[in-house]
Amino acid sequence: MDIYECGPNGYVYDDAAACDGSPGGSRPCDYAYDPAQGDPDSGIAPGTAFENLPENWTCPVCGNFKGKFKTKA
Ligand SMILES: [Zn+2]
Repeated sequence: MDIYECGPNGYVYDDAAACDGSPGGSRPCDYAYDPAQGDPDSGIAPGTAFENLPENWTCPVCGNFKGKFKTKA
């Protein structure tokens, strides 16, 4: 099963930058969905293929939509 990376529009706020309220304090999200691990925090059991994730599943780190993910090269 393929690993899918978050992106290209997934961004998370850098904590330090968010604290001082400065704009642009974000960095690309580096989360990747690994089917072997699943996403237990969202109720996704290990062994669940990315294709079988519910359509309303979103990135647990930045909230990016499933459709924004891409296969890891
Ligand atoms: Zn993300």
